Amino acid sequence: MSSHILLLNCGSSSMKYQLFDPETQSPLAVGIVERIGQDVGKLKHEVDGQEFVEEQPFPDHTASFAAVVAAFGKHGPSLDGVRAVGHRTVHGGSTFQESTLITDEVIAKLVELQALAPLHNPPGIAGIEAAMALLPDVPHVAIFDTAFFAKLPAEAYTYAIDREVAKKYELRRYGFHGTSHSYVSKKAAEVLGRPVEELKVIVCHLGNGASISAVDGGQAVETSMGLTPLQGLVMGTRSGDIDPGIFKFLSDKGYSIDEIDTLLNKQSGMGGMCGHTDMRDVEARIDAGDAEARLAMDVYIHRLISYIGAYIAVLGGVDAVVFTAGIGENASLVRREASNRLRHLGLVIDEEKNAVRAKEPRVISTPDSPVKILVVPTNEELAMAQDTLRIIGA
Ligand code: ADP
Repeated sequence: MSSHILLLNCGSSSMKYQLFDPETQSPLAVGIVERIGQDVGKLKHEVDGQEFVEEQPFPDHTASFAAVVAAFGKHGPSLDGVRAVGHRTVHGGSTFQESTLITDEVIAKLVELQALAPLHNPPGIAGIEAAMALLPDVPHVAIFDTAFFAKLPAEAYTYAIDREVAKKYELRRYGFHGTSHSYVSKKAAEVLGRPVEELKVIVCHLGNGASISAVDGGQAVETSMGLTPLQGLVMGTRSGDIDPGIFKFLSDKGYSIDEIDTLLNKQSGMGGMCGHTDMRDVEARIDAGDAEARLAMDVYIHRLISYIGAYIAVLGGVDAVVFTAGIGENASLVRREASNRLRHLGLVIDEEKNAVRAKEPRVISTPDSPVKILVVPTNEELAMAQDTLRIIGA
C-alpha cells in the first residue's frame, strides 16, 4: 500500500500543498491556490514537470481545497494513495508540545489559541476543517512551528514583565521555524558523524523570515523569535529586535498601533533599510557601490554575529554553526562575513568550500577549525511527512 502524505500550508489568502512520497523523499505534485477571497484567484498544480493553471474565484479555504482535490482528479496523481494529511500549524501555544493527531478537541483548542496568532492560525484551522470534510477517512496531523521550542528552559522563554499579565495572556517566547531547526540540527549531527545527544549546535535559519536557535544535545535551549515571528534577526521585511518604546513614540506622532505593526512587519528589515527584500538584489546593489545596501548588510551581519556570540555563551561553547534556508544555503557572502567576524571564537571558514554552490549538506570550515561551519539545506516537507507518519504510527 502506498503511503503518500498530503501536506497543507494555509495562509490567509493562500493554500500551498504537496503530495509527498516519504519513500523517495520527494514530492509527487506541488501546488498553490492564491488570492483566496478575491474576485479572481489562481490555482497552480505541478506534476511530472507540467504546470496546470486555473483562474477563477476561490471564495474561501473550503472552495480552495475542493479545487485542489479536483486538480488532483484531473491532472493526477490520484489521492487514493494518501495515507494521512499533515497540516502546518503556526502556533501551538503552551498546549501543543508535539505534532498531534487532529480531533474535535484539538480543533477546539486551536480555536482558543487563535488570539496568540491572529494572522496565522485562523486560516490554518479553515484548511484543517476543509481537508477533514473532503478526506474524512484518513488521519490528519497538526505540525506546529512552535513545537521544537516548547521545552525551552523557563529562563529563556520568560519575558521580564509583570508575571500576572504574562500569565493571563500567555505572553512568552514561543519560537517559530521549529520544524526546520529540528531537522537541520539532526542532519548536521549526521553530516558530522556524531550523535546529536553529544553536540552543541547553533542553527541559523536565514530565509525571508529568519531565526536562530541554540540546540544542546538535540534539545532547543534558546531561539530568537518570540511571542510572534517579529523578534530577533533582521529579516526581508521585518525589523527583528527593536526598542518596544518605539510603539509609544510613533503613537504620539499619530501612528495607529496597526500602522506601527505594519511598519515593523512589512516595511522594515532589508526592504526598509535599502529598498530590496531579496538578498540577491542587496548583493547586486552592494557590488554597484550602493551605500544604503552596504549599511543594510552590515546591520544584518552585526545582528547575526551578536546572536551567534550570545548563543555560544548560552550553550557554554559550540561544536557547529549551521546555515540553512534561502539565504543561509545560497548567500556565500553572508556566511563569509559572519564567520570572519567570529574567527576569534573558533570559526575558521574555508573560502573555497564556501564558494561552492551545491544542494548537498556540507562542511565549509577548514579541517582544523575548532568550530565546524556547515551548510545544511532545510527540508521542512520531508520533516513534516516523517512526523505525520510517526504520529499515525505508520
Ligand atoms: P521563506 O521560506 O522565508 O520565504 P526562503 O528560505 O525561501 O524564504 O528564502 C528566500 C530568500 O532567500 C530570498 O528572499 C533571497 O533573499 C534568498 N536567496 C535565495 N537565493 C539566493 C541567492 N542565490 N543568493 C542570495 N540570497 C538568496
